[in-house]
Amino acid sequence: MIAEYIAGVDIGGTKLITTIADATGIKARVYQHTQLQGDTLTIPKQVYYLIQKTAEYAGIHHEEVKAVGIATCSPFEKKGKYKEIVAPNLCGGLAGNEHLPNDWTSIPLEEFMSDLYQNVVIENDCVAAVVAEKLFGAGKMYDNLVYVTWSTGIGAGAYVDGRLIRGKNDNAPHFGHIFIAEDGPQCGCGNYGDLEAIASGTAIARDYGVRSAKEVFDNYRRGDTKAIHIVHRAARNFARGLASLNALFDTEYIVLGGSVMNDSDILLPLIREEFYTSFPVLSKNVIIEKSSLFEYIADISALSLVMPASWIESWRAGSQWKQAPALIKL
Ligand SMILES: [Zn+2]
Repeated sequence: MIAEYIAGVDIGGTKLITTIADATGIKARVYQHTQLQGDTLTIPKQVYYLIQKTAEYAGIHHEEVKAVGIATCSPFEKKGKYKEIVAPNLCGGLAGNEHLPNDWTSIPLEEFMSDLYQNVVIENDCVAAVVAEKLFGAGKMYDNLVYVTWSTGIGAGAYVDGRLIRGKNDNAPHFGHIFIAEDGPQCGCGNYGDLEAIASGTAIARDYGVRSAKEVFDNYRRGDTKAIHIVHRAARNFARGLASLNALFDTEYIVLGGSVMNDSDILLPLIREEFYTSFPVLSKNVIIEKSSLFEYIADISALSLVMPASWIESWRAGSQWKQAPALIKL
């Protein structure tokens, strides 16, 4: 499909970002806080509104937008023809999420958007990121590729034998929710001992008793023994998670992104040391690197889901994701 303009939408628990692009690059980007009050169409309507506003900033009419790629927090559940978003950080009607100001149990985004646009693709944000890595990152050389985000949560997207793996509800692989330890802390999903509950940025901050993982890494750099202990343990568990993922997928290349990887100078050596001691016959030739798209991944992921094939060469040649205009707050 040849589109004149495409839109990318990034939906997180706190921020909603929309981007408009054409064959030559990114034209405009805007964001708003994610609206969590109202009925289940609140976020779908906000997405539509932001695409219209972004089109205005791009100097085009929003009807010129032919395709919309949406990277969102998930999980999803398929209901009939369309999948709905059933994400604990958006839906207050799910067990354990009563702190959110709504009673939603799912968000019918795909059905709403499909009435408005010819081509709508919705994926988990890490699945969208691995598509971007395959098109524009170091991953373009590999048929077996995993993208992992290490942030306030932990997630992944994967190609196996050149195919994007998705599963019956498009939830594969929900990497943060693999089981690590029997007596581990409770995860946001309700389980105990999941990787995300043990090693996420949120878990690192919780274990130290501060608000953000960044503070723990700052203390690490000052030689604080408690910070060193917590970071080493998180890195060990994270690397064991990667080894489990590799045991399942027999991958070639693991790309790491997410805010915790801002401290990749500390973490990469720790991750590699643990990873390569795990079952060496499986782990020995796997490459583990920080994403070369690192600070641009959110801009390019959603667009990658619907980018026409004819644009890709020129986007690669010009690294168009690096030329994005400043983000406008609405
Ligand atoms: Zn979990």
